[in-house]
Amino acid sequence: MPAAAAPAHRMSVPDYVAGIAAGDRSVLARAITLVESTNPAHRRLAQTVLQELLPTTGNAVRLGITGVPGVGKSTTIDQLGMNLLAAGHKVAVLAIDPTSKRTGGSILGDKTRMSALSQERNAFIRPSPTSGTLGGVTRRTRETMALVEAAGFDVVIVETVGVGQSEVSVADMVDFFLVLLLAGGGDDLQGIKKGIIELADMIAINKADGDNVRRAQRAVGDYKHALQIFTPAGAAWFPPVLTISGLNNQGLKELWEKILEHRKTMTAIGTFQERRQSQAVSWMRDMLEDRLMGALRAQPQVAVELPGIEAAVRDGTLLPTLAVERLMSMMGFPSE
Ligand code: GDP
Repeated sequence: MPAAAAPAHRMSVPDYVAGIAAGDRSVLARAITLVESTNPAHRRLAQTVLQELLPTTGNAVRLGITGVPGVGKSTTIDQLGMNLLAAGHKVAVLAIDPTSKRTGGSILGDKTRMSALSQERNAFIRPSPTSGTLGGVTRRTRETMALVEAAGFDVVIVETVGVGQSEVSVADMVDFFLVLLLAGGGDDLQGIKKGIIELADMIAINKADGDNVRRAQRAVGDYKHALQIFTPAGAAWFPPVLTISGLNNQGLKELWEKILEHRKTMTAIGTFQERRQSQAVSWMRDMLEDRLMGALRAQPQVAVELPGIEAAVRDGTLLPTLAVERLMSMMGFPSE
């Protein structure tokens, strides 16, 4: 019986593995649902499936894209994705959206945002998981990335909105981190979030069309200058600054070429592999932290006393250090 025909609750590990390896989208979607599930039995099943698929993961170009709402992420990804499909690629788009939990709706990942790509069989768009901490959402996105790679998607785009720590999380799971910006009024550097320049492997100034072309070109100089300050002398990769128009499909060919050039350069000097390896370790560490925090909160005494302890810390009646001591001892750890 083909894997996809089995009901979800009956699908075994080999069913999942075979279905995903065959590129079956419905099996892939079910496996992602397992990854996103809070049910420990589902999670365990997902881990076994992932472990089996591990040798077939890691082959995609992993591209992270960030930018404030309205900068043109979905327009650009839609167009870039269509270009890549035309060149024979299979493209998956995943989203990390820390706003989705708070607002109950998601800014990112909504299929309707990428209207051309979402119609395509060789594209797969998955909205951000809607529950959990950023750490939990990040873990699920990493696991989903492994699943889509095993299913044969050779370009994985992870999109995030410029909120909180989500950019750092995305930069830590991709090979190339692209920052989309707009040309502002005067001093462009005002508009850029602190820290983002250090994460960028490239800056693309979007909406460089119509009346905006000259302004966008002027902004290139400003950002190049800022990148010069942050990029160490002798670095193997100097982040380029491009102007693009996602809407008019301008500059996207050059943008993709830069991504491939980066891959080639970094592979030649071993940095590509090193980045992947250290990302695997930080994946493990993040997951461990997540699990430890989960175990902490689930411990019965902690569950009862944590709100009171936090309240006491907030009031200033309990030192944070002592609060941690108390919690650690509840977990059976010796005091320092
Ligand atoms: P997102 O919130 O970052 O995903 O931004 P969208 O892709 O939804 O774009 C926001 C608005 O900007 C939409 O009205 C788009 O049509 C428009 N837009 C996006 N890219 C371009 C572009 O390259 N040029 C122009 N002129 N408008 C664009």
